[in-house]
Amino acid sequence: MRSARRLRLRFDDSSGTLRLTCPARTSRRAALAWALDQREWIEAQLARTLPAEPLADGAIIPIEGRETRIVWAQAEPRTPRLVDGELRCGGPLAGLSRRVESFLKSHALKVMSAEVAEFAALAGVEASSVSVGDAGSRWGSCSSTRRIRLSWRLILAPPNVRRYVVAHEVAHLRHLDHGAQFKALEARLFGPGVSESKATLRRIGPRLRRVGRGR
Ligand SMILES: [Zn+2]
Repeated sequence: MRSARRLRLRFDDSSGTLRLTCPARTSRRAALAWALDQREWIEAQLARTLPAEPLADGAIIPIEGRETRIVWAQAEPRTPRLVDGELRCGGPLAGLSRRVESFLKSHALKVMSAEVAEFAALAGVEASSVSVGDAGSRWGSCSSTRRIRLSWRLILAPPNVRRYVVAHEVAHLRHLDHGAQFKALEARLFGPGVSESKATLRRIGPRLRRVGRGR
């Protein structure tokens, strides 16, 4: 449940219904605007209703937007690697999902650190740190101390979707709000197609959140 003063948003798993309640005196428009701001939380709730996609042998998961099969073979190296559109992994079968997850996290960190540096150079700023995690329902965040934190799950998304989130967070290094100057910088860094990438993330987000869940 999400609440702000007397506005409440509740998601019912069994029916897949979202219920917004507010006091009679609250304007409908204000209530809906507040609910729209909860979009990432709503997506996270939707994600829970989709089937889990464990990182198991034979599973097909998206990596940089491409459906990729996880292939386990004892003769393969212990550390997963991408070969011919497959994610090949050896070592003991028991720790497979943990190894695949740490591969995805380190791949995500490597790719997105380079992108943060690329956009930061364009913006004439520098991030104090870049890290990946899986905390809460946010795809990315930028602190007032210039620390950028991104969801490792963005490495599952197509490159333009991932780059949009990175450009968005780098634009926050200059402007912590979402004002006109922020939007102009975001568009300059990412180039055309901000709203398309944003819409794609909204559409595929719930699935990205299911990858690696359930064992
Ligand atoms: Zn933002």
